Amino acid sequence: MEKKKIWLASPTMHEWEKKYVQEAFDTNWIAPVGPHVNAFEKEVSAYTGAKYAAALSAGTAAIHLAVKLLGVGEGDYVFCSALTFSASCNPVCYENATPVFIDSEPDTWNMSPEALEKAFEKYPNPKAVICVHLYGTPAKLDEIMEICQRHHVPMIEDAAESLSATYKGKQTGTFGKFGIYSFNGNKIITTSGGGMLVSEDEDAIERARFLATQARDPARHYEHSQIGYNYRMSNVDAGIGRGQLKSLDLHRKLKKKIYDTYKAAFADIPEIMMNPINPDGEANYWLSGMMISPESHITPDQVMDALAEENIESRPVWKPMQLQPVFADCPFFSHREEGSVSEDVFRYGLCLPSDIKNTEEDMELIIRTIRKVFGT
Ligand SMILES: *Cc1c(COP(=O)(O)O)cnc(C)c1O
Repeated sequence: MEKKKIWLASPTMHEWEKKYVQEAFDTNWIAPVGPHVNAFEKEVSAYTGAKYAAALSAGTAAIHLAVKLLGVGEGDYVFCSALTFSASCNPVCYENATPVFIDSEPDTWNMSPEALEKAFEKYPNPKAVICVHLYGTPAKLDEIMEICQRHHVPMIEDAAESLSATYKGKQTGTFGKFGIYSFNGNKIITTSGGGMLVSEDEDAIERARFLATQARDPARHYEHSQIGYNYRMSNVDAGIGRGQLKSLDLHRKLKKKIYDTYKAAFADIPEIMMNPINPDGEANYWLSGMMISPESHITPDQVMDALAEENIESRPVWKPMQLQPVFADCPFFSHREEGSVSEDVFRYGLCLPSDIKNTEEDMELIIRTIRKVFGT
C-alpha cells in the first residue's frame, strides 16, 4: 500500500477563502484590480501596522520594486543575507547591481551584524541592505538597524517567511524603509502566488502601484515615460489572501506547536539542535529545522533518506548564495575568521515537515523515524 504523504509545508484553506473567491466570481471582478485587492492591502496594513501596502503578483516582484524605488542601478552594491532563497537577491541583478553577501550569526542564523560591519569597511556606500528573517525568526534588528542608520543606508526587510513574527513587539517587515511579504504556496498563508510591499512612505507605495501596472502616465491614451511591469495581484488571489489572513494567528499557533513538539522530542539527543529562535521576538515558526552536531556520525542526508523511505518530505537548509555558481564572482563577508556560519548551517542542517495539517500520528512517525537514525 502507498504510504501517506507527509508534506513539508502545503496550503491550508478554510471557509472564508471560498466565500471571497465566490464573491469575485459573482461580481466578475476577475482581474488584477478590484475590491479584494484594495481590501487585502488595508487588512495587511492593519494586521502588521505597516502604514501603506501594495498587493503584487509575488514576493519577488515586491523586492524588485523596492530595489527600483531605492534607485539601485549599474555599478551599485547591495548587501544581502547569504543564507536565503535566491529570490531575496535576484532583483539586485535584474537592475545590474552587484549583491554583496553577508554571513549568518549563529544565534538566529540571520544576517551577522559583525559581518555587516566588515562589509561596510570594504564597501562604504552600498545602495541598500536586504535583510531576511529566515524560517520566520527575526534577525538581530537593533544591531542591524543601528549599523544601517549610522551609514545612512536604507534597509529592505525580506519578511517573505516571517509574516506575523514580531521583534520587541513590532511586526517584522515594518522596520525597514520597505518590507516585503510572500504568499507563495508554501508560506504561512498563501494566495497561491503573491506578495505585498509595505512602507511608511505613501508616495513610494503609490509609485510601486504605478510601476506594477505598466507605468501608465495619466492620459486618455496610453502614454509612457518609463518602463513598467505587470506585477499587480489578481482580485481572485486577493480574495484567497483575505480569507487566509483570518487564520494567520491560528497558523502561527499550530506552527509553534510543531516546533515545540520536535524540540521536546529531541531534547535528550545531544547531537540535535533545533533552529534557533531570537529571544527578543516572537517567531512565526514557519519552518522547523535542525542542525546535527558536526562531531556526529549522522549526516542530514541520512535523516532525509530515512524520512523519504516513509514518504515524508524534508529538505536541506537553503544553500548559501556565496556557494551558488551564479554568484561565484560576488563578494562575501564571513562572520568568522575561517569558513562561515551559513555554510555550516547548510552542511549540517535540514528542514523538518512543518505542515499544520499533519496529525499527532504523523508527528509521532516523523519523530520515531528520526530517532531511529540516531539509534534511540
Ligand atoms: C519565498 C521567498 C521569497 C520569494 O517570494 P515569492 O512570493 O515566491 O516570489 C523571497 N525571499 C524569501 C526569503 C523567500 O522565502
